Formats: sequence, C-alpha cells, structure tokens
Amino acid sequence: MIVLNLRCGNGHDFEGWFASSAAFDAQLANALVGCPHCASTDIQRLPSAPYVRTSHAAPSSKAPARTGDAAALAQAKLRQLAQQAEDVGKAFPTEVRRIHHGEAPERSIRGHASLDDVAELLDEGIGVLPVPPAKEDLH
Ligand SMILES: [Zn+2]
Repeated sequence: MIVLNLRCGNGHDFEGWFASSAAFDAQLANALVGCPHCASTDIQRLPSAPYVRTSHAAPSSKAPARTGDAAALAQAKLRQLAQQAEDVGKAFPTEVRRIHHGEAPERSIRGHASLDDVAELLDEGIGVLPVPPAKEDLH
C-alpha cells in the first residue's frame, strides 16, 4: 500500500491510497480517481515521493544509555551487598576457605584480603568479589 499526494483541477489536495504506483496510474487512466471534495477526476499526482504507510513509527534512536551512571550504580549495589555481609576483617581469606570447605556456616562475609589472597582463593575455585571502596572511605 502506498499513499500518494494528489491534487485535483480545483486545487484540492488529498491523499490517495493505492496498491502500487502502477495501480494508481491505471485507475487515473480510467478516471477512477476522484477528488473527495469535488469529485473531479482531473487529478494530478504531486511530485512528492510516495511513502509507505506503516503503523506508528517508533523512534529510531533512543538516547544512548549513560554507561557511566550504570557502572556507578553497580558499584553502589556491590557496596550495599558488602555492607550486609558479616565483616570478618583480616580473617576473610581463612573464613572464606572454611565456608568453602563446609567448616563454617555458609553466609555472606566481607573483610580484607590482599591481592595475593584473592589470587589464591580464585585458584582454589573460591569466588570472591573485590568491592571498590566507597569514596568516603578513601579519606
Ligand atoms: Zn477537488
């Protein structure tokens, strides 16, 4: 279905819907296209390009997501989770291992671990999540 901008001999502009440009030409040749205002069949097609009528066009581009905000949000969420965890301080690597081996009740803990500790824990297949310190902790 195409929509053509049409104008009759009396200067009425209107839209005509046709199966195709060829269908319009055929109907025009047979005087089957009439102005809805004055029924004139003296119709000319305006030079504007025909367009395909679709359902309401969705906006093609949304504003790009602000990834910086998303990252900050994720870090804030991590910190929130970390604050809900039990703080075991410097016993963290030991306690994580005990939980991992079923020697301590399973729970969320947080604490301090050196990079070496973290690397060792990861080597042992223990998932640890480094949480960046909150800005206020850096003072
Ligand atoms: Zn007319």
